[in-house]
Amino acid sequence: MTNSTRHGKQHIRLFIPGPTEVRPTILDAQTEWMIGHRMPECADLFGRIQEKIRQVFYTESRVYITASSGTGLQEAAVRNCSDINVLNCVNGAFSDRWRKVTEANGKQNSVLEVDWGKPILPEQVVDSLSAGDFDAITVVHNETSTGATSPIEKIAEAVRSLPGGDEILILVDSVSGLSGIKLEFDAWDLDVVLTSSQKAFALPAGLAFCAVSDRALEKARTVSHRGYYFDFLELEKYLLRNQTPATPAISLLYALDRQLDDMLAEGMENRFQRHLDLRDRTIFWAQARGLKLFAPEGYRSPTVTCVMNDREIDINELNQYLRSQGMIISNGYGPLKGKNFRIAHMGDTQFHELEELLATIDRFLAKEPA
Ligand SMILES: *Cc1c(COP(=O)(O)O)cnc(C)c1O
Repeated sequence: MTNSTRHGKQHIRLFIPGPTEVRPTILDAQTEWMIGHRMPECADLFGRIQEKIRQVFYTESRVYITASSGTGLQEAAVRNCSDINVLNCVNGAFSDRWRKVTEANGKQNSVLEVDWGKPILPEQVVDSLSAGDFDAITVVHNETSTGATSPIEKIAEAVRSLPGGDEILILVDSVSGLSGIKLEFDAWDLDVVLTSSQKAFALPAGLAFCAVSDRALEKARTVSHRGYYFDFLELEKYLLRNQTPATPAISLLYALDRQLDDMLAEGMENRFQRHLDLRDRTIFWAQARGLKLFAPEGYRSPTVTCVMNDREIDINELNQYLRSQGMIISNGYGPLKGKNFRIAHMGDTQFHELEELLATIDRFLAKEPA
């Protein structure tokens, strides 16, 4: 693998599900001159970004950009969108984090709990919603901790077909999905979709983005104690002038502007297909080595593959070897450490790079004592 150095530091190629690998041209885009965030140059930059990022969310609606990671917008979503009861759908570590965020903000909630590794299914959501009076649901599109993707379009359809379903806000975390897995904000009638810069967007960490529907904004007007930094009404007021209420992460906006150009030049459909091809190749590789996948067929993530470690490979040793070869993968998340390992193939990862990783893992496995 190209072991290039930058500022004298050796490159370790990231096949971990965030932060992901950032191309040198994108890193370089961050080094433009600083500008004032009330200068017209910044509004121009913000306006350009707004027009392009809406295409990535498949929306004509607004996309707020915050100087935070995605967790900040998990907080924003529940704080702005509920004052009755939230249904938190939990099937892994990040959906469980959203439950904790909901509770930490003093919101009333109920939890739909599904085994880790499984997707959230529409009928489960419908069952849970019919057991109470809810104004919002939280659901993770792509559970990065387990490699399972949930069928958001079908979940949204099922929610909308319920009596009163038009008033339930559908809040979606697509932190490790968006731009790698197709998600259509407008066509699927979603209310908030949030993501982070450092996953499938293949940008440096530090920015978060969320599309917000008119319905969600109307709801926010009626909810008190929305906080200040992530108040949708404040963000909206400034967005209308191509600004943000507080100082944005200007250098990161330069990187985003450039990356959006590159994404749209690749073509979103091509980008989604590349992710599917990378996923299929990884699954084929694993199965050919007698390894099973953690997520069931039909719900396996296009951006991260979670492989069951039935061969009891020493994942730490594997990663040490990979590091010596200039690359790294992820162990299982939290309680899954050692039992699973995760290969991320999201962002700008190319086929030949994945091939190089898989061949390197094979070399390690060949040396391993049986
Ligand atoms: C990484 C991740 C998060 C947390 O995002 P941060 O940007 O680290 O705050 C939340 N949800 C999912 C699905 C993730 O993969």
